[in-house]
Amino acid sequence: MARIELDHIRHAYGPNPKSDADYALKEVHHTWEDGGAYALLGPSGCGKTTLLNIISGLIHPSHGRILFNGQDVTGLSTQERNIAQVFQFPVIYDTMTVYDNLAFPLRNRGVAAADVDRKVRETLDMIDLASWANRKARGLTADQKQKISLGRGLVRSDVNAILFDEPLTVIDPHMKWVLRSQLKELHRRFGFTMVYVTHDQTEALTFAQKVVVMYEGEIVQIGTPHELFERPKHTFVGYFIGSPGMNVVPVEIEGSKARFGGQVIELPGTQQSAAKGRMELGIRPEYVRLGREGMPVSIAKIEDIGRHKIVRARLEGQEIAAILPEDEDVPADPHIRFDTKGINVYADSWRVALGG
Ligand code: ADP
Ligand code: MG
Repeated sequence: MARIELDHIRHAYGPNPKSDADYALKEVHHTWEDGGAYALLGPSGCGKTTLLNIISGLIHPSHGRILFNGQDVTGLSTQERNIAQVFQFPVIYDTMTVYDNLAFPLRNRGVAAADVDRKVRETLDMIDLASWANRKARGLTADQKQKISLGRGLVRSDVNAILFDEPLTVIDPHMKWVLRSQLKELHRRFGFTMVYVTHDQTEALTFAQKVVVMYEGEIVQIGTPHELFERPKHTFVGYFIGSPGMNVVPVEIEGSKARFGGQVIELPGTQQSAAKGRMELGIRPEYVRLGREGMPVSIAKIEDIGRHKIVRARLEGQEIAAILPEDEDVPADPHIRFDTKGINVYADSWRVALGG
């Protein structure tokens, strides 16, 4: 297993990159702990696959270095880095049996026959293909083939890291859940360093100890699901995580108060550094309280989604989402309050510290 250091990584696919816009990865400078389970989360095109392929060695970065346990591996191939990688679509040998597909990476490295057999059977059980062991891979369905691919990534226990690039895309929802639980269990048992790419927040939040949120070629936050929920470092994290996402409104800050149109909102503290840039206040729908006191609103829409209701209120010409418990009703003359502990303040989209 390895601690992975990404040392000032930048990457452009085209020649002669000039501005930031020419870079698929703008600047990535982070250390990922040995044995950590990381999810790499972000919308399509934000650079997840690029970063994963730089870690595995399929792509050589335009700038910067990769270190495994302090050793520079930037010039090494995937094989030399000793990485297992599972891609979005199956990479298997069609003419081999399911069993041989899994045995291949082990035999290749000279693992003893008895150990090969034990590992292959264990892995076949995990991916639920034990009864298909002697079938040729060619005749299998797309999701069975993807399970073989997954198995090939999991069969070796001597790798530095296992990287997954949206591996469950073609798998049906129930099996997805089963496989994800097994990956977590495997991580718990063997302590592999795992990096799991996904654009699905549920998948990221249930798999990982640490979620790495990417946006337009940058890592905007690395945090536990709790940190991403309570203290989004960037407004994008607020929008992207949560359902619905964080409400963000333009404000002017005056000491420990924020002015939003004609409203004055009490902040959890005063800004520690001098105010600069475009100021915004972020509040998750979970912290917006509906009642008879506070700021008067009109109600645009109420969505009943079972365990709770999502209320779309209008305040100062902007829509504010609030989450209301199932057994509560919207009052006749509705007002909202922002629970102070749920308030975050942003300058040019980045969170600013409040204190005092
Ligand atoms: P993600 O995996 O998050 O969807 P990618 O890492 O695949 O994002 O892509 C990041 C950016 O780099 C995108 O703008 C994409 O169009 C571009 N890109 C990806 N692969 C290539 C390539 N081989 N050549 C040129 N541009 C690419
Ligand atoms: Mg991708």
